Amino acid sequence: MSRLIVISNRVSAPTDKAGVAVGGLAMALSAALREGNGMWFGWSGEVAETSGQISVQRIGGVTVALTHLDEQDVHEYYNGYANKTLWPLFHYRPDLVSFERSFDEGYARVNQRFAEGVAPLLVEDDLIWVQDYHLIPLAAKLREQGAKNRIGFFLHIPWPAMRILMTLPKHLELVRTMFDYHLIGFQTEDSVSAFREYVLNHAGGEDLGDGRVKAFGKVTHIAAYPIGIDAKEFVESSQSPTAAAYCKRMRTSQNGRKMMIGVERLDYSKGLEERFVAYDQFLRDYPQYENNVFLLQIATPSREEVDAYQDIRNRLDSLSGHINGEHAQVDWVPIRYVNRSYRRDELAGIYRAAHVGLVTPLRDGMNLVAKEYIAAQDPDDPGVLILSQFAGSAEQMKDALIVNPFDREAVSETIHEALSMPLAERKRRYEALMHGVMTDDVVSWREAFVRDLKAEVLETL
Ligand code: UDP
Repeated sequence: MSRLIVISNRVSAPTDKAGVAVGGLAMALSAALREGNGMWFGWSGEVAETSGQISVQRIGGVTVALTHLDEQDVHEYYNGYANKTLWPLFHYRPDLVSFERSFDEGYARVNQRFAEGVAPLLVEDDLIWVQDYHLIPLAAKLREQGAKNRIGFFLHIPWPAMRILMTLPKHLELVRTMFDYHLIGFQTEDSVSAFREYVLNHAGGEDLGDGRVKAFGKVTHIAAYPIGIDAKEFVESSQSPTAAAYCKRMRTSQNGRKMMIGVERLDYSKGLEERFVAYDQFLRDYPQYENNVFLLQIATPSREEVDAYQDIRNRLDSLSGHINGEHAQVDWVPIRYVNRSYRRDELAGIYRAAHVGLVTPLRDGMNLVAKEYIAAQDPDDPGVLILSQFAGSAEQMKDALIVNPFDREAVSETIHEALSMPLAERKRRYEALMHGVMTDDVVSWREAFVRDLKAEVLETL
């Protein structure tokens, strides 16, 4: 049986003790690696002088191979090309992109170093699965090292529309490297078509049918594999004593008021400002909710080394303060704005206590919070999910209340619709959504991708 080799920027194999804090993706990949005697390669997260040395260890039953990055790498590759160039660009924010040639060089250098680290560890029939935007050119670098293996790539964030991508210097070179993969997985059909459109219209490519596209004299396979959560585990977690305690704590503090919940990293792609503005609109449009509803917004600080993240944090501090100052009363605060992180079992309890889940990113690869919110609900009295049409999950979760997060008046109306929705309709929507969350979970995502990668014919490259 061929081994699975997962390569990602960071390695998050679960330690034996901290399993509860680890996300579904890490769990699902670790399970596959344990079963298939595989290996997970990536950055240790440590910043140190690099000697190119790889440390191989066992963590939580998984073989993990770790490399370090030095300060220049972190600046140019991680904070630079990955998080200041590709992240904003792929989330449709060319206005926030900063591009410097040194970022591009750092990105190429680290991908090269990853390839040099992995190549000696490979055997002939290993299946290689590269994760995410940090490592797009890795297959090309591995081919230069002589790797003939099947290599697949999964992009966890959106693939942007052609005209957006074309604002990136050297976009054609980036796409060219992708043709060294046998299989490229995207979160959504929207991303698949955006990639195809670029290949056909800008790379002189050809659509060969069945998801195969040809360009640069090579053929690759493209398809959507929408990622899910570890749904069974999340449902169990929502029934744990910690979740029950958090749910109770929230209910007590609600004091009969309805609660809306938002949970995200503090990122400009998540639409937090627009959400606050829409909530402000709602409080004006529907004064009957005064003192009867509040929004709990958990916004976990993220990527604080990048200026755009400090800017968004400052703007949200100001906006939440402004809205609270405008509407609050001596015994009611309309927004509880919390800048810290919670464990998954704590979040499960908080989600369960919320009457409405507000998930309104301006652009998101998938958005797992939407799925977790559904998985945590009480089937006899479920809450209502309001979901942005620009979250990848909206392609699957059609029974949510789908909104355009840029349309604050429509979001305001939708909040009212959610808060006043009769139990029968809440249940109907919840049951349909829950069916999807349970069926299309992270394990079926992993199995579908690995099955298709195995089925690729090696001669195509
Ligand atoms: N999350 C968490 N604690 C927090 C905030 C978020 O564990 O305080 C988790 C959340 O449960 C979800 C993930 O972070 O699993 C966020 O994933 P999502 O796809 O929604 O967004 P991303 O942060 O990957 O852009």
